[in-house]
Amino acid sequence: CLMPQNRLHVFQYSFVSVRQIDKYLYSMRFSDETLKDIMNRFRREVENGLSRDTNPTATVKMLPTFVRSIPDGSEKGDFIALDLGGSNFRILRVKVTQDKKQPVQMESQVYETPDDIIHGSGTQLFAHVADCLGDFMEKQKIKDKKLPVGFTFSFPCAQSKLDEAVLLTWTKKFKASGVEGMDVVKLLNKAIKKRGDYEADIMAVVNDTVGTMMTCGFDDQRCEVGIIIGTGTNACYMEELRHIDLVEGDEGRMCINTEWGAFGDDGSLEDIRTEFDREIDRGSINPGKQLFEKMASGMYMGELVRLILVKMAKEGLLFEGRITPELLTKGKIETKHVSAIEKTKEGLKKCMEILTRLGVEPSDEDCLAVQHVCTIVSFRSANLIASTLGAILTRLKDNKGVARLRTTVGIDGSLYKMHPQYARRLHKTVRRLVPDSDVRFLLSESGSAKGAAMVTAVAYRLIEQSRQ
Ligand code: BGC
Ligand code: MG
Repeated sequence: CLMPQNRLHVFQYSFVSVRQIDKYLYSMRFSDETLKDIMNRFRREVENGLSRDTNPTATVKMLPTFVRSIPDGSEKGDFIALDLGGSNFRILRVKVTQDKKQPVQMESQVYETPDDIIHGSGTQLFAHVADCLGDFMEKQKIKDKKLPVGFTFSFPCAQSKLDEAVLLTWTKKFKASGVEGMDVVKLLNKAIKKRGDYEADIMAVVNDTVGTMMTCGFDDQRCEVGIIIGTGTNACYMEELRHIDLVEGDEGRMCINTEWGAFGDDGSLEDIRTEFDREIDRGSINPGKQLFEKMASGMYMGELVRLILVKMAKEGLLFEGRITPELLTKGKIETKHVSAIEKTKEGLKKCMEILTRLGVEPSDEDCLAVQHVCTIVSFRSANLIASTLGAILTRLKDNKGVARLRTTVGIDGSLYKMHPQYARRLHKTVRRLVPDSDVRFLLSESGSAKGAAMVTAVAYRLIEQSRQ
């Protein structure tokens, strides 16, 4: 090579173009053909989970929730809602009235859930929940009342009725011992009894997707899908009871919690998983599990970006090859950083700040490149979720036997809400994958706990009616 040494140096390190990054990360960019293929794969998972013969070995569990309808507006009462498993542990008081202007009034408080508690024993975890509930009731001056409680518990649970939920497996950051295989209602009741200073009537356990669907269903009767794109990801939808082999009866519908985060756990997504996805999985607290979730949800997105940047820097494609201890530290790039970097106006400035904090002395070109890496990773997530959601929408359309599906999807989750481009990309891709549909995406403004209170309100109304 005739190039002088320093020229070669500049040539190698000076900058990597957007086109080169596209090529470098080609396995994270999907054609519509691939997305439709993923959509079809997920449709088969849905069928496997629903039918009796294949359910026991199905990867996507398709859990019956015993929620049979969305709110009809006649609900009323004074309820407590617990919300555990999302980015915050919250307790709420929800008053539902027939007031036209403000039918729902809520007061809420966020409680800490320290790491030693979510990784400790189940007994400690539920004692903590019971303590927080006691504190909340004290502050609300309702310790002498036995209010109905709705429990949003954002993990996969087997239910045989509304007020029983056996935890199948922990996901996300949770790993308390002695809870898997147990009914969380029993565990919480035991913890409350042990305190002995107040009573609570836990009437319903709902997944956060179900809570979201119910919250949005209160405002839009057409809502029949609920999805979460936050720390974890998942969806529920209203399925025809005649297709749910595990539940008696053929009339009407029931909400099914798909637990789509586990899609791929049987190897069905190996062709689209990358070396970075495998590394994320190896370093997680639940290796081999929730593989779709690890590609798409907020808990892993920042870390995926970091792993890519480390590799690119090692190959001299970024930061003139500079690698710092910070860049090499797990968790140093968070999903909120990805969101900041992708902002249209201040994104590059944010990128400069974030990378500077990692000590890599980024150039302007580095910032452009890193921004593009973020776009590819977050766009992949939106594309993947568009495919699985597309499968659910196609299923709804077939169930209804209509030529065109008109429906509403209730959505919640920090990634969907905070990322500047995510929602738009998701909506656009869904509409392209399922062209024969008019889908309204409804952001759940008040979270899934309001929905849990709704489910509780319905259960409460039914019990009251049967007592009369
Ligand atoms: C859980 C789901 C939950 C989702 C969103 C997943 O890890 O398995 O039950 O709905 O996270 O919170
Ligand atoms: Mg049935």
